[in-house]
Amino acid sequence: MIPYLVCDNFRAATEHSYPVGVHVMMQRNMTNVNAPTNISAPNCLIVGAGPTGLVAAHELARDGIRCRLIDKDAHRATQSRAIAIHPRTVETFELMGLAEAFLAAGQRIAAVSTYGDNRRIAHVGFGSLDTRYPFVLGVPQDQTERILEEHVGRLGVTVERNTELVGLTQHGPGIQARLRCGDRVEEVEADWILGCDGAHSAVREKLGISFSGATYPEHFLLADIKVEPDLDHNEAQVWLHGDGPAAFFPLPEGRWRLIVGNSPPEWRDEPSLAQCQALLDQRGPGGLRLVDPRWISVFRIHRRIAGHFHQDRAFLLGDAGHIHSPVGGQGMNMGIQDAFNLAWKLSLVIGKNGNPALLDSYEAERRPVDEAVVRQTDRATRLVALHGPVARFIRDHLMSLMTRIPLVVDRLGEGMSGLAIDYRGSPIVEDHAMGAPGPHAGDRAPDAVVDDRQGVPIRLYQLFAQHRHLLLLVGAGGASPSVMPELGQPTVAVRHITAPGIAGGDLFDRTGETAARYGSGDMAYLVRPDGYVGLRCARNDLPNRLPAHLAKLFSPT
Ligand SMILES: Cc1cc2nc3c(=O)[nH]c(=O)nc-3n(C[C@H](O)[C@H](O)[C@H](O)COP(=O)(O)OP(=O)(O)OC[C@H]3O[C@@H](n4cnc5c(N)ncnc54)[C@H](O)[C@@H]3O)c2cc1C
Repeated sequence: MIPYLVCDNFRAATEHSYPVGVHVMMQRNMTNVNAPTNISAPNCLIVGAGPTGLVAAHELARDGIRCRLIDKDAHRATQSRAIAIHPRTVETFELMGLAEAFLAAGQRIAAVSTYGDNRRIAHVGFGSLDTRYPFVLGVPQDQTERILEEHVGRLGVTVERNTELVGLTQHGPGIQARLRCGDRVEEVEADWILGCDGAHSAVREKLGISFSGATYPEHFLLADIKVEPDLDHNEAQVWLHGDGPAAFFPLPEGRWRLIVGNSPPEWRDEPSLAQCQALLDQRGPGGLRLVDPRWISVFRIHRRIAGHFHQDRAFLLGDAGHIHSPVGGQGMNMGIQDAFNLAWKLSLVIGKNGNPALLDSYEAERRPVDEAVVRQTDRATRLVALHGPVARFIRDHLMSLMTRIPLVVDRLGEGMSGLAIDYRGSPIVEDHAMGAPGPHAGDRAPDAVVDDRQGVPIRLYQLFAQHRHLLLLVGAGGASPSVMPELGQPTVAVRHITAPGIAGGDLFDRTGETAARYGSGDMAYLVRPDGYVGLRCARNDLPNRLPAHLAKLFSPT
């Protein structure tokens, strides 16, 4: 039987016990004279403290990796910008230990209703999504950044504001960056640099990486506002109109995000409340009065993608790597997923014995996902912006018909939620049980409730949240082959889920949820620290498959 390697104090136990080579790397970086003392020798320089940089810093710091997180702005942004946190991002926050803070701050949005010619033509609900969080969470981006920054601070990383990256060179074993901090200039060395510095990324520019794409011709009006009489806060509402759509998204505290497409290009950056009202009267349902605006703005949107996300010791994440239409509210969610995907790999390579080739999988996994979002949001933007009456008539009728089919509604909800994103084509995932029920290698590992030996319920996501690889053995079959001692991988925990009363398990599938989601055969799933299945095979095939798979992830010690 496989010995269990689960240890609740795992992180505390390993934080200060890096392999010797890593200590040597840390000692090398001592030329950074102005950094706070606790991070005087950063392994990672993270440029940009937006949502992407904050998530990267959180995850690296959680693993004891030394980070500097810099931002050129003097203060955290106060504009709400991204307001939609999708279900997979809430799950990600759960894996980071932050879901409760976000749930407390957010407005749950259960559905999106779309109206055309004053009748509802489509209703897409999220209630049937197979997640603990079947809703979109409305949280203004300034609040998202506040929550993330507070938690990053608790891990000992302070955002260094007024600190702008102005120069960057890469040399073999690291990077050299030039930072401008007010009237001082500081030279910094680090092992890695993460460009989380937004659409106008200096990291991308210094690396000479292209950012090709296009700008949409339309202007969009955006306001954070209240509405009288109030609308249903459980739903986002979109009105399609020949001159451009108008949409309301619920925010906390009874507020709404109003977005109106194709606003007059001659309007200045901050249109008046009267101008917003006039546009809504023309495009919306009528009879709504806008009051108490907190922020009104006009913006243009772009779709662009960087030529590379990874160059030697530098990475581009979030808006630095890709920007697209805000239709569907994906931008911030994609940046957070970029950071979550890269952080565990980088943390293994820096802090443990992760195979450096792991880092190539960042771009291999994220580029197809980010490219698909750029494509899909482009199509959706064109669709909602249709002007001609015939095209609009066809669109509205098709939308109305299609969204009466439950399967279509489920697919639309899944697509928006981020739950359907997978890494099946990745060089570091392996499926040796094609056709078997349950998640494929590369898929998100679903949650389920199981009982421990004392009969106390525990969710699989609580186990995944421990941020290391977890080998889940499922099925009623007897003892499992002993493979772990030879591998000597303390970063892999093992749990064995059986039906109640079956010998050999340490977790019990009393509710049948594990069997329903992972299949009832004797299977093994290696779940990665980001909650995706890295390897799937039959349990009795594990001795053949697991060593070779782990050799892709870890270098020999
Ligand atoms: C009006 C609007 C509405 C949006 N609505 C949504 C939505 O509903 N849902 C959604 O998911 N997305 C939305 N987005 C997109 C979302 O805001 C971005 O995708 C998100 O902010 C990207 O996060 P980021 O951390 O990658 O970059 P940013 O948030 O742009 O952060 C980059 C940070 O880097 C700093 N920086 C830049 N250059 C340097 C430098 N040289 N040195 C140091 N620091 C630097 C900046 O000061 C900034 O703090 C919206 C965007 C806009 C503009």
